[in-house]
Amino acid sequence: MAVIAGNWKMHMGAAQTQAFFAGLTLEERAGKNELLIFPPAVSLGVAAACPERDPRIQLGAQNIHWQDGGAFTGETSAAMAAEAGAGHVLVGHSERRHVFGETNEEVALKIAAGCRHGLVPVVCVGETLEERQDGRVDVVILAQLDAALEALEGDEGPFLIAYEPVWAIGTGETATPEDAANAHGTLRTRLEATLGLAAAVRTPILYGGSVKPANVADLLGAANVDGVLVGGASLDPHSFADIAAAGGA
Ligand code: PEP
Repeated sequence: MAVIAGNWKMHMGAAQTQAFFAGLTLEERAGKNELLIFPPAVSLGVAAACPERDPRIQLGAQNIHWQDGGAFTGETSAAMAAEAGAGHVLVGHSERRHVFGETNEEVALKIAAGCRHGLVPVVCVGETLEERQDGRVDVVILAQLDAALEALEGDEGPFLIAYEPVWAIGTGETATPEDAANAHGTLRTRLEATLGLAAAVRTPILYGGSVKPANVADLLGAANVDGVLVGGASLDPHSFADIAAAGGA
């Protein structure tokens, strides 16, 4: 079983969302995987209500605000996302961190808000190219993970981690399976040290960064890679279906 998640980013309005689900045919072995799509906020309700959506595909929000409501123009609360059909929420995606300047503290607040409203957080961590070249991969991803774990303290609910090296997102550059295994091993070890063995083992760690049908099997074969978070290649129903069937045999 692997977790196969698609992050549509700022793509796929209502009509395209419906067309995606109408055009998606999942192979039987995809049913062995946990399938997730993160549509943009305006398409979440459309996806949830879409009669053509295969019910095996769960939905998540790409972002939430940490407040439950108020004068925050343009934002979406966790409760609103849940009401629209989200069961998961992406937090700390590299585009949120690096394009919108989200800090570890804000990521922590969003995790707590998601948990309050029953959303399963998918916490994204990852280093920039510069940080990698400086030999700081572990320092960066562990600081991001620690901030997230602090926010989760006392919450017994499930959560997922996504390791997404920033230099591999939307660039066509993919981490090697060895790169992924190293980072995932570092994250798993910290999960065990902080939460104990049982929680470390049951928490899925996904890899994200230019995952495609052609490389998904190798990445899923790497140690400690429990699934993938896919951006560009999740927009096309045929390539999403190919990825969804990977690792599911
Ligand atoms: C992402 O958006 O999380 C992502 C990994 O994008 P891509 O697959 O396009 O690199």
